[in-house]
Amino acid sequence: MKNQRDSGEICIICENQKTEGIHVLESFICTDCEKKMTSIETTHSDYSYYVQKLKK
Ligand SMILES: [Zn+2]
Repeated sequence: MKNQRDSGEICIICENQKTEGIHVLESFICTDCEKKMTSIETTHSDYSYYVQKLKK
């Protein structure tokens, strides 16, 4: 389910306005960052960086 308003939403990771993405914990993550997150999921140091962003 997409939530498209105007030209999109602000991604919490890259802070760019994107139309394609997912919602995690009421935050928006664009498709590009979602791919990055899934690819680094096993790297704990990087992953915790994203988790901190999510908690912001
Ligand atoms: Zn992004």
